[in-house]
Amino acid sequence: MAQKREIPYIWVTWLTKLLVGENSCEWAGWFRSNHLNSSFDKIPTSFDAAEWQINHTTLLNAAREDLEDKGWTVFTEHQNTFKLRGSSAILGGKPDLIAVSDNKGIILDVKTGQPSPSHHLQVLLYMYAVPKALRQYLGVAFEGRVVYPNHLDYVPSNGVDSNFVNNFSQLIKRLASSQPARRVPSNLECSFCNITNIDCPDRIESEEERLQDTEDF
Ligand code: SF4
Repeated sequence: MAQKREIPYIWVTWLTKLLVGENSCEWAGWFRSNHLNSSFDKIPTSFDAAEWQINHTTLLNAAREDLEDKGWTVFTEHQNTFKLRGSSAILGGKPDLIAVSDNKGIILDVKTGQPSPSHHLQVLLYMYAVPKALRQYLGVAFEGRVVYPNHLDYVPSNGVDSNFVNNFSQLIKRLASSQPARRVPSNLECSFCNITNIDCPDRIESEEERLQDTEDF
């Protein structure tokens, strides 16, 4: 049975698709935020993690080498893990790359798939949280970047404005609430969700499974 966390814990990437409207089911984020990851069953994934890791590492290494050649001091992945404590939850994340030079900084994330507005939001969330959560970056002015296989997007720092902060703060409060968020089952979203029907009775099973249930006509 899913075990409650003592304090809600929210991973940055649980917020981004909800913020841009790519996902609508806030209940999935509420459930993950409020329950220990190790305590509930998950749908096995067909995602090829090995291929993704190789592609991701190749792009990240190229970005790191480029910035180091230009004189930046670069930190990658686990060196960048942060936890930012708020009044309702802890926000956690791990930018792929942080580069610093004097009081200037770059936060960069690598994406191996198709571009999405949620990628920019992810970097904006890092630009907000990193200087607050990691003392060594206090006072550093960050710009953001998203690296794709064929191009680079810049994420300007003026995106971290009061409207942005208000929007994600409200979402964090809803996901951290003791009141469950709204479930919004759909074929598409449930097919990418790893929460089983043990915990989510509204889960819509795959088209194939539903057809097997009804193919006696
Ligand atoms: S299985 Fe579907 S309804 Fe249930 S939490 Fe996931 S996305 Fe939401």
